[in-house]
Amino acid sequence: MDVLVPVPIMPIIARGLDAAFRVHRLFEASDREAMLAEAGPHVRGFALGPSHEPIDGAFMARFPRLEIVASFGVGYDHVDAQWAGKHGIIVTNTPDVLTEEVADTAIGLLICTVRQLPQAERYLRAGKWLEKNFALTASLRGRTIGILGLGRIGKAIARRAEAFGLKVVYHGRSVQEEEPYLYYPTLVGMARAVDILMINTPGGAATRHLVNAEIIEALGPNGVLINISRGSVVDEEALIAALRARKTLAAGLDVFSDEPRVPQALIDLDNVVLLPHVGSASQPTRDAMGQLVVDNLVSWAAGKGPVTPVPETPWPRAAKAARSA
Ligand code: NAP
Repeated sequence: MDVLVPVPIMPIIARGLDAAFRVHRLFEASDREAMLAEAGPHVRGFALGPSHEPIDGAFMARFPRLEIVASFGVGYDHVDAQWAGKHGIIVTNTPDVLTEEVADTAIGLLICTVRQLPQAERYLRAGKWLEKNFALTASLRGRTIGILGLGRIGKAIARRAEAFGLKVVYHGRSVQEEEPYLYYPTLVGMARAVDILMINTPGGAATRHLVNAEIIEALGPNGVLINISRGSVVDEEALIAALRARKTLAAGLDVFSDEPRVPQALIDLDNVVLLPHVGSASQPTRDAMGQLVVDNLVSWAAGKGPVTPVPETPWPRAAKAARSA
């Protein structure tokens, strides 16, 4: 099977692909159009790397035999999965293998944000402790955490938050009867009731600016906002304005609207903790994600179907329906 690699990939993916497929590395091609013209008609699969360059319908349409797009990461808002589904192309992601790692990072970011641990560390390194003690901080004690998007990662964060003695509530598009946490049917209602907003929805058009000025205001001046999902979910300008005016206590952000560019206005604020999108970024977890990209393609090539298709391109129903149409 011919596999196109549009963007750089991790070594574990490269090794897996080279062992099983004819691999066309578009990102290394000196003449992209020449490679597309030569390999395009034969390509049946894409393997995507950690970087999230958009894969839209116009690009996929250039590959008449394309059957599967194996994306890296659980979020796949950079791939037009709706278009793929309509055209009988399977999209896969890498869920589950990163859930616990991302939840660890989320809790670490929450504690750093509330207790200002990065600021305290910088204070010590700057020799300021010799002059006076670091200022007292806010506390996690007695707080309620509102999880926006109680999915795989949201649930893993909820379990950890409970162990930390926090009250857990959630909002999503639907109630989950089997979960022990209080459900809020509206996001603004939940934002009013909690003092920590933990964002765990997918990105994409459906959740764009879900957390807008109204939600940020409802969170209130003691509110702490943690975003470990996608930058697009939060109205970044509104958040910056609220943090500047101290209408929001603090924010911990692993994701931004225009990565890797982070607004100077955020960098200049002292009530934010900023991470360079490292939610899942440990070597073992990233290797497991990379292996799942390869496993999806290998399973597909062996006629066994995809391992982890996304909901927009379920297997076998969508692919069969589209092909017989
Ligand atoms: P998941 O299991 O699909 O959970 C997503 C949750 O979001 C679901 O509970 C869903 O509940 C809710 N949701 C979806 N659309 C919504 C909407 N419009 N309004 C409110 N809630 C909505 O996904 P996951 O595995 O937990 O991953 C979640 C996201 O985390 C990924 O999509 C990715 O963007 C992000 N992520 C970030 C990192 C990082 O490095 N920072 C790493 C991994 C993942 P309902 O269906 O009930 O609405």
